[in-house]
Amino acid sequence: MADCDSTEGTADALAAQRKARAAYMREYRKRNAEKYKVIDKEKAARQRAKDPEKFLAAVNDRTKRYRERKLAAETPEERERRLEGNRRRNAKYAAKPEVKAMKEAKRLARVAADPEKYKAKSRESAAKWRERHPDKALNIIHRRRCIVESGDVPAAEWAATLALYGHRCAYCRKGEVKLTIDHVLPLSKGGTHTPDNVVPACGSCNSAKGDRLWPRPEPYVADAATT
Ligand SMILES: [Zn+2]
Repeated sequence: MADCDSTEGTADALAAQRKARAAYMREYRKRNAEKYKVIDKEKAARQRAKDPEKFLAAVNDRTKRYRERKLAAETPEERERRLEGNRRRNAKYAAKPEVKAMKEAKRLARVAADPEKYKAKSRESAAKWRERHPDKALNIIHRRRCIVESGDVPAAEWAATLALYGHRCAYCRKGEVKLTIDHVLPLSKGGTHTPDNVVPACGSCNSAKGDRLWPRPEPYVADAATT
């Protein structure tokens, strides 16, 4: 037992000695800060040249420990401020057009890699949307089916129809408004999405008409409209 005690005593003494030496070195380095700036820089350069990977790992390790110490010491306010800064920077970064384009490209790549998975996902979210908006959903499904089944209005034909109505709403004859396609005989009543069943209508006439059947408007004649 005496042996044990003496070993412990020696170990304690050694530890104390080491501690004192370290404290002295810290003090000494502080007093010779300028000199050590150069010495440390050269030492780092030597280490980096000798084993770049190890050097980098040590730097990363030191940075990590420094960060952990800092995070552990931060107050709730400091933490909130830091997180807020992160959020702001992230939002700013995400808003950049090139970042948006990159994200979209990545998304498309993910979809291309597993189309079935994303088809299932989009079916699921579409079903949820239909649950929330049953009326809208019915209308959209109906319209889409009618359009698919009942044909097409080629761009040239639509342009001709617009000209026929003087680029005005066929019902109220208002010009310089955004014109929409109105089906004279509504799709829901068996109308077709074909050139002979479409006229231009302003948004308010189109929504006022809705699914009703209004008389087919006459083509626009400038003189008739002004008198
Ligand atoms: Zn109108």
